[in-house]
Amino acid sequence: MAPLKHLLGIEGLNPVAVTNLLDLAESYALLNRSGKTQRDLLRGRTLINLFFEDSTRTRTSFELAGRRLGADVVNMAVATSSVSKGETLLDTAATLNAMNCDLLVVRHNSSGAPALLAQKVGASVINAGDGTHEHPTQALLDALTIRRNKGRLSGLTIAICGDIAHSRVARSNILLLTMMNNFVRLVGPPTLMPGGIGVGGVEIFHDMAAGLQGADIVMMLRLQKERMSGGPVPSSREFFAFYGLDRAKLAHAKPDALIMHPGPMNRGVEIASEVADDPQRSRIKEQVEMGVAVRMAVLETCARSNY
Ligand code: ASP
Repeated sequence: MAPLKHLLGIEGLNPVAVTNLLDLAESYALLNRSGKTQRDLLRGRTLINLFFEDSTRTRTSFELAGRRLGADVVNMAVATSSVSKGETLLDTAATLNAMNCDLLVVRHNSSGAPALLAQKVGASVINAGDGTHEHPTQALLDALTIRRNKGRLSGLTIAICGDIAHSRVARSNILLLTMMNNFVRLVGPPTLMPGGIGVGGVEIFHDMAAGLQGADIVMMLRLQKERMSGGPVPSSREFFAFYGLDRAKLAHAKPDALIMHPGPMNRGVEIASEVADDPQRSRIKEQVEMGVAVRMAVLETCARSNY
């Protein structure tokens, strides 16, 4: 596929680029299952994980992905509390430039921080989640999981439920899934719905029964309290009663509908264990597995732009 210097968001990709990334990721999914690696591909390259926000899955899977391709991987610990964000980023950019890093994976609580860094460093910048803006590798791994299970990535009805307003995962998924001609439904209370989002192939529902009716995929999102101001949700118990996914609500979706969640899950708040752990319906573990494969594909594709 055509080289990609940075991956800052799904915005800016097209269906061919998405399909090529998923095809490459699929080949890595098979390689990973076989227990083999490709350690010659990124040998001599340096990957820096620069996480200004906590992460379990994303940071670990970028690290694994880099190592499986043979890169030298460094995790940089960053403290954000005492320095203003602008200064931190620009100082960090100067430091990273001096280190000649090839691939820079960035997570930041400010939307747009990876794009700013991309202007200041020589490395390829990969957005690992910025504020409420985008989380492109999550949308790609979700797309790969859907495609493997449904045999296609178009014409599907996908309900994204819960805290849409504060979710970069929702934003990247809406962009990717509508680009690939799916029907996207956003389901949640009005207080957790961002303004101006009900356009172009996206429908909004405030009721789970209506929103899940006939859905092929039910994607649940956590209440991202760290990004909330005021109290958009009365209580976790009440939220679960209206919007938490359990067997009764899932029954409105298609009988073979699959459950997804980007993690971390809050059991008993947005999702019940009875559905999260249902091996027939839940694809949450497969999402984590596909995360490594997708990140290998993204790292390879970005690294090629620097050859
Ligand atoms: N892990 C995802 C993110 O970083 C989802 C979440 O935190 O709820 O956006």
